[in-house]
Amino acid sequence: MISIVVPCYNEEESIMLFYKEMEKIRKKIFVDFEYIFINDGSKDKTLSILRDLAKKDNDQVRYISFSRNFGKESALYAGLKFSTGSYVTVMDVDLQDPPELLPEMLRLIREEEYDCIGTRRVSREGEPLLRSLFAKQFYRIINRISDTEIVDGARDYRLMTRQMVNAILEITEYNRFSKGIFSWIGFKTKYLEYKNIERIKGETTWSFWSLFKYSLDGIIAFSEAPLSFAALVGIFSFLLAIIMMFVVAIRTLLFDDPTSGWTSLVVIILGIGGLQLFCMGIIGKYLGKTYLETKKRPIYIVKETENDIK
Ligand code: UDP
Ligand code: MG
Repeated sequence: MISIVVPCYNEEESIMLFYKEMEKIRKKIFVDFEYIFINDGSKDKTLSILRDLAKKDNDQVRYISFSRNFGKESALYAGLKFSTGSYVTVMDVDLQDPPELLPEMLRLIREEEYDCIGTRRVSREGEPLLRSLFAKQFYRIINRISDTEIVDGARDYRLMTRQMVNAILEITEYNRFSKGIFSWIGFKTKYLEYKNIERIKGETTWSFWSLFKYSLDGIIAFSEAPLSFAALVGIFSFLLAIIMMFVVAIRTLLFDDPTSGWTSLVVIILGIGGLQLFCMGIIGKYLGKTYLETKKRPIYIVKETENDIK
């Protein structure tokens, strides 16, 4: 049986379309499906559509409804936790993760001893230019400064074995960055490539700004390089200060020319002050994450599941 984990946030228009597409695939490949929809605190009719669907197809459809919006990462975690299939796949409900790839993914994972068949977008057509540009730079930077490989364009859409899912579930950190977690746990993964597909209905919830913040979170979660950078900046300006000390002393003693004016002083003070605040900001970011982590709050809170309507 394959568990299909589907996070949904304000997706009233997409759910039925998605379900119908998936049913077509199921009939082709003759395997049992277990749908696990996660209603991530939607404000539209998503929940009532899920209720209806679970009543209509109660053999296959299960759902988890959160008490509020916890974000896609939390929804993924909850879905994996509730899944019971020996294979598990994670899919967006907007059909941007093509269901047609599923038969091939299943064949590969069964026949070729992979633990995970992932998918990768090789084009970003239909995406704003600035967004693609930043995305590219993000992958370049994070792969340079982190030991964990983050594959460029890799989607969350993947078919995994139960062993791999269990490994993911053992990572209970609060600041979840799935792209990193999938890679950090290891396991043999093969990526299928496909061209970007635009959303069928509704709109993406990711603004440029939220993606930017998400990428910073990813860097903080999987690299300590910014901290080392702060330390390096400190050492560098200290060395510079020593050199300058000699320069100024020699100039005063030998040439009787103490540096005049406070212009240079002000520039130095402002410069150093700025650098200090910047480095403290970096440390603060990590400290903030540590603070959230030490609270050990649950990753999600369930308000209702399909068992409540039976
Ligand atoms: N999603 C979610 N919680 C959120 C935001 C998004 O569960 O807070 C779901 C959403 O319903 C969709 C998937 O995550 O199934 C991907 O979202 P979206 O299509 O907006 O992202 P994009 O494809 O643009 O990266
Ligand atoms: Mg999408």
